[in-house]
Amino acid sequence: MIWQSAPSLLSPAVHSIAPSPADIHSHYADLVMSHQQMVASLRESEERFRLLLDSSPEAIFGVDANGICTFVNPACLRMLGYEMDEMLGKSVHALIHHTYPDGRPYPKEHCHVRHSTLQGRPTHVDSEVHWRKDGSSFPVEYWSHPMYRNGELVGAVVTFIDISERKRAEEALRASEARYRAMAEQSADWIWAVDLQGRHTYSNQRGAAMLGYAVDEFLAMEAGELVHPDDLTLYRENFQKAVATAHAWQNVVLRRRHRDGSYRIIESNASPLFDEAGRLIGFQGVDRDITERKQAEERIQFLAHHDSLTGLPNRILLRDRFEHARALADESKTHVAMLFLDLDNFKMVNDTLGHAAGDQLLLNVVERLSRCTRGIDTISRQGGDEFIVLLGEMPDLGTIEGIADEILAGLSEPVEIGGRCLNTSCSIGIAIYPDDGDDFDTLLQKSDTAMYDAKDAGRNTYRFFDVAMNQQAHEHLLLQNRLHQALVREEFLLDFQPQIDIGTGRVIGAEALLRWNSPELGEVEPDRFIPVAEESGLIVPIGSWVMVEACMQAQAWREAGFADITISVNLSAMQFRRPNLIESVAGALNRSGLPPHLLELELTESILLEDAGNNLDTVRRLRALGVRLSIDDFGTGYSSFSYLKRFVVDRLKIDRSFVRDITTDPDDAAIVRAIIQLARSLRLGIVAEGVETREQLAFLLDEGCEEAQGYLLSPPLPAAEFETYLRKRNNK
Ligand code: C2E
Ligand code: MG
Ligand code: MG
Repeated sequence: MIWQSAPSLLSPAVHSIAPSPADIHSHYADLVMSHQQMVASLRESEERFRLLLDSSPEAIFGVDANGICTFVNPACLRMLGYEMDEMLGKSVHALIHHTYPDGRPYPKEHCHVRHSTLQGRPTHVDSEVHWRKDGSSFPVEYWSHPMYRNGELVGAVVTFIDISERKRAEEALRASEARYRAMAEQSADWIWAVDLQGRHTYSNQRGAAMLGYAVDEFLAMEAGELVHPDDLTLYRENFQKAVATAHAWQNVVLRRRHRDGSYRIIESNASPLFDEAGRLIGFQGVDRDITERKQAEERIQFLAHHDSLTGLPNRILLRDRFEHARALADESKTHVAMLFLDLDNFKMVNDTLGHAAGDQLLLNVVERLSRCTRGIDTISRQGGDEFIVLLGEMPDLGTIEGIADEILAGLSEPVEIGGRCLNTSCSIGIAIYPDDGDDFDTLLQKSDTAMYDAKDAGRNTYRFFDVAMNQQAHEHLLLQNRLHQALVREEFLLDFQPQIDIGTGRVIGAEALLRWNSPELGEVEPDRFIPVAEESGLIVPIGSWVMVEACMQAQAWREAGFADITISVNLSAMQFRRPNLIESVAGALNRSGLPPHLLELELTESILLEDAGNNLDTVRRLRALGVRLSIDDFGTGYSSFSYLKRFVVDRLKIDRSFVRDITTDPDDAAIVRAIIQLARSLRLGIVAEGVETREQLAFLLDEGCEEAQGYLLSPPLPAAEFETYLRKRNNK
């Protein structure tokens, strides 16, 4: 063979001035053929090569040792735009290599073909530019092979193909890949791909940096290497299941170790990757670092369920403990005792020795209380000098009396605080499950009542609850009777409390607050009559009235030309559970003509907690109406967060008990900060309730809470006064 393998097997045969195919094949002739046979065979061979060259889609030409064109095929002429006689006998370099692709001159001395020809080597150039006769150019890939005659190097044969299409496709692919890569790299999330062994095949920088690594270091790691040991099973099972089913996973939360040894909490979402044949080859996904959000949640959880001074469970957690104790008592047919405990002279200690001494005394009391109780009992601080001790699995009254006596004795020992010896004592009221009531609130109220009885009896003693003592039951009955007529007798009114954008000072909303002006009882506080209305079911018609009245008023302000503000209406749990809630809301909107997005319903955390399935549906239907939803008194309910993601609401209202002490109590400040952070990470609006001082307002604004409601800005106002306020604030 004369040439090594090439894209085509060729002979410098056709359209040539020299050498002819006969020349090239002459050394075969020395062998066996006779002269005639040889001539005939050569003619046949020449025909074959001519056909081959003429029909080749690839451009082919030959050059001699000086780069002069010795033959050229039609494809080459077609691609370059020359006639055959314009190429044959001419320097090919001058015809097709005017410049480099970037326009610089391309001297003959640089020519690859020339070099390889001179050195007798084949050459392959992946991508270069050829010029046409008309001055245009196009990208080519070419091969050049040296030609020998009788062992002497006589030139080269060059083959090239037009690769414009390929270049365009490559360019488009590169551009789209660059676009996606830039998007992936700039994402704030971790974007990754893994193979079926779980090894990372791609990670954006953000993902690796999330764990403190460079991308290369990260990709070199073993699958699952950084997963927290306790999460490894979850990680493996999840991955194996995904591989087995070729299904992705969603919201899988895993801890992964950061380079600095800490763990980040990462939420993972993936989708399967398939090759062209439809076989699963791995997964790709987007993960998010949710550590801060989780920490904020945990911190709020703790702060919201514990008393900051003593670290004891607060009432919210106590309620939960009670539920456990009740279940145990039911099982063992025993009792739960709730001891409501109030220190007898605490106010005096606080007033004369100061708050620091008061705090010390409280800590001392906790210490002594825990000595009198067992591990399964719960001691909880209710605030101030009030404690509740919950005694589980009490077999009889005598046991309870025994413990109460012990507590009285323990607390009446003198104690030294701030260098002074103090005599302390307490009064205890006791209510018993199931004898005095079934539920936490009833027992709480009854033990409280009993505690006052103990005080009346001269302090430093305990009393059990006695039905005759229950004056509240009496009042309850009274209120309930009057409430029945209040709607018909039109004794209800609404006040409106402005909600302000702290930054601009503008009124952005109003909370409608129910007022009851009873001819017999005078003005009754909502906190007194609303619980009664709830218990008796009267809150449903009253709540409907509030809804219509509030919408009408808001629409009246719009029609009077005031800029739109949101009207917030409180919704009680009982209203929420009613099947006709949606109709009632829709009815109020229809009657008033108020656009739905200007009505906000304030739900309580407890509404969202119970019977989650149905409630979720109600929330969805309310949202479908277009009204806004907020969570009132946020932070006080139990387990405030798990549902936040499920129940789509627009705003959180920070409970005023937290706002009250934000500038003095670091724990409350931390809670508020965490709530704001949580709202931000869930992209919820946030409004602070009960803002009473400039300092509180400044703190809130500093922390990023932009909306506030409270006495500092305005108390709840009758409609007419609210209108004046609105005019002044919003410059109508
Ligand atoms: P809420 O929804 O948290 O309403 C805010 C309460 O905080 C109002 O008490 C308001 O007067 C009071 N407030 C506002 N600013 C401040 C402040 O700066 N400092 C302090 N300490 N308090 C402030 P209000 O009007 O007595 O209402 C008490 C509760 O009664 C409401 O709490 C709400 O849960 C309920 N309520 C009121 N109206 C309705 C109603 O129409 N339907 C239902 N279901 N509940 C209602
Ligand atoms: Mg409210
Ligand atoms: Mg509130």
